Amino acid sequence: MNNVFDNILGLIGESPMVRLNEVTKDIPATILAKLESFNPGHSTKDRIALHIIEQAERMGLLKPGATIIETTSGNTGYSIAMVSIIKGYKCILSVSDKTKAEKIAYLKALGAVVYICPANVPAEDPRSYYEVAKRLAEETPNSIYINQYFNELNIEAHYQTTGPEIWKQTEGKVTHLFACTGTGGTLSGSAKFLKEKNPDIKVIGVDADGSILKTFHETGEIDKSDIHPYQIEGMGKNLIPKALLFDQIDEFVRVNDELAAYKTREIALKEAIMGGYTTGAVVQGLVQYAAENPFNDTDLVVLIFPDHGSRYITKVYSDEWMKEQGFTNNLVHNYDEVFKTEHIK
Ligand code: PMP
Repeated sequence: MNNVFDNILGLIGESPMVRLNEVTKDIPATILAKLESFNPGHSTKDRIALHIIEQAERMGLLKPGATIIETTSGNTGYSIAMVSIIKGYKCILSVSDKTKAEKIAYLKALGAVVYICPANVPAEDPRSYYEVAKRLAEETPNSIYINQYFNELNIEAHYQTTGPEIWKQTEGKVTHLFACTGTGGTLSGSAKFLKEKNPDIKVIGVDADGSILKTFHETGEIDKSDIHPYQIEGMGKNLIPKALLFDQIDEFVRVNDELAAYKTREIALKEAIMGGYTTGAVVQGLVQYAAENPFNDTDLVVLIFPDHGSRYITKVYSDEWMKEQGFTNNLVHNYDEVFKTEHIK
């Protein structure tokens, strides 16, 4: 039999790459997007869920019927819920109340128990999704807390899979790697592998306006004035994750909600790739970087597209949501012309 797997977990990894032809056509380099939405859980997080859970099994930490606990903005939760079903574990997730209802519905569809916690409280507050997950892990026997922000296996998952795949897919010709950083695991693990192969590869992290990561990389200090609420889910942070290897990253660019939102929709309209909000963010990061650091036609740039747009249909792909945010200024997004809907009565 060919292309047949024992269960859904066999499809994790080996995500395809596709060339961007329109949305970055002013940049002379070859630009390839690695489509992590082709994982069975539709995001890059399948890789870490499988790796961390299987590593815990190898270490004898999980007995039959165990419970897997995590904090998540959605994608990691979906991946853990998926792995838990196949392996016979229970899954408990604590999420921020910034998370859209449909993301929570996805988690529940895969059998997860979901705790919804306030986003705008400090991490050390007992109501924060970190503290809730920690407490549940302490109270639940035969459980593990994935703790993706502080778990070095998060980096290792990408060091063992995403990095080698990028090297193989580009036949070692990659010159630049861009990814949005949330936990930092995707970029750190991939970068570590790729820089061991070729230390000249430039690694660029894309941070959110409202997050502390870019300033911390540049100064080694946390600047609290950087912190403000923002809309992009899954990237940027108000603490320093241990899964982010700052020394593997050459530079950060910071993108705002509005430009990332336009770019997300532009990628769907021009490349027919419907990505999540951070897909727009990583392309916006590339555009901003290219304005300061010109590329040439021998450069081969890889962008990680972390997840699929279906989870953002009531957010960045909703005209109403865009208008509510005041995101109405971009010519590509002339709402009356591009997003016209006709009702035949
Ligand atoms: N984009 C999305 C949509 C995500 O959910 C995440 C993970 N938080 C990222 C980007 C960033 O990936 P990482 O945590 O590996 O830095």
